[in-house]
Amino acid sequence: MNPPAPSAALSIAMISLHSGPLGPLGASRTGGLSVCLRALARELGRAGHRVDLFAPPPGDAHGEEPLPLAPNVRLFPVAAGISSSALDLYRQAEEILGTIERLRRRAAARYDLVHSHYWASGRTAELACRAWGVPHVLTLHTLAAGKRRFRAGGQEHSVRLATERRLAAACDGLIVPSPREKEILLRFCPTASDRTAVVPWGVDFEGFRPIPRREARRRLGIPQASEVVLYVGRVVPEKGLKRLMSALAHLRGRARLRLLVVGGDGADDPRLRLLAAHMRARGLENRVTFCGRVTPEALPLFYSAADLLALPSSYESFGLVVLEALACGTPVAATPVGAAEFLLRDGKRGRLASGFAPADLARAIADLLDTHLHSPFMAESLRRSIAAYGWERTAAGALAVYRALLSGRENTSTAAAGTSLCCGCGLGRGHR
Ligand code: UDP
Repeated sequence: MNPPAPSAALSIAMISLHSGPLGPLGASRTGGLSVCLRALARELGRAGHRVDLFAPPPGDAHGEEPLPLAPNVRLFPVAAGISSSALDLYRQAEEILGTIERLRRRAAARYDLVHSHYWASGRTAELACRAWGVPHVLTLHTLAAGKRRFRAGGQEHSVRLATERRLAAACDGLIVPSPREKEILLRFCPTASDRTAVVPWGVDFEGFRPIPRREARRRLGIPQASEVVLYVGRVVPEKGLKRLMSALAHLRGRARLRLLVVGGDGADDPRLRLLAAHMRARGLENRVTFCGRVTPEALPLFYSAADLLALPSSYESFGLVVLEALACGTPVAATPVGAAEFLLRDGKRGRLASGFAPADLARAIADLLDTHLHSPFMAESLRRSIAAYGWERTAAGALAVYRALLSGRENTSTAAAGTSLCCGCGLGRGHR
């Protein structure tokens, strides 16, 4: 197949079998990956490229007709992912490719490349690339090796570890969202070095903007004098909610301290019930409010009402909530993971815990509460400090990787770096 001209609009197939772009955010299988897919596809579409996303459809959609998601972006429903585990999806790769091929033929679509997301999609994408004679760009989103290294979540399935290593070695280009992810990846697949680009994820600055704190608290019914620590995310063990609750036990002397928990699988979520019991056992049940899932449109109210966002994770590949909080003018206290690790290092946007013990996180939270980083002036300056992280920048970084591959250049990491100061994060070369 002839490569497209260097400035031509591209036709991109994205394959994401495990998480779709339209699920309820904050549920156990719908989080950052879904946000990222939707934003990346939307920005590529806005720049004039065509994106067909092969992914699970939203719950109420039936049939095989493509759904328009944004200008130039369509969702082709691949229902296999809705109830299958990642391992099943990996094992059903050939069958799923059959579905994708049928949908593609019916739409008479042709692609310049495939960008696949998460390990469960990698094998199907590999087979598609072979059939269509196009390059394969892979984003793993989280790495089994990372989870194992930071003892996050359960034992990672050995098939996943082996598959990620094999896919990373075989694909044409890799995109990872943070320098730490690249380091972990290269440790288990050193040959991927020249093919791996760091392209940080972004934030929607239109949607995530500061609301005056008094107003946000009034609208949420939060007493103005409270010290509010906010958690936003899926409720899965590697997110570290239990660590955060133990950290709050260290801070029980701060009588006005409250924790708001946003996310989870609803009132019957057994994990949430366990966490509530954990707080009860410490006599802190009155200090926590489980708010359930909140839509992205309503989230700025929560970020703006909080004194700080806490990110207590054992492992993150990025952590979109960090950018969202900062875009709303709220500082962050975090364990040293993902985007927090390089965004908070200089202490100007929040505090990085010195380790993963609850006491380390408690110190970071207390220090941040005591420094009064929150004021209207500070909110604007926090927001400005991450101005480089719009999703259009992420799309430009991904596009540089695509173009480098299509023009036959080998070093995709250089291609992506060429779009920005360093790895694309806007922080300059020194952060690596
Ligand atoms: N989120 C949401 N509503 C919720 C909980 C989470 O919209 O109730 C969104 C949150 O705003 C963020 C995403 O889900 O955009 C979580 O992404 P992150 O990278 O922080 O975590 P991941 O899910 O990738 O582990």
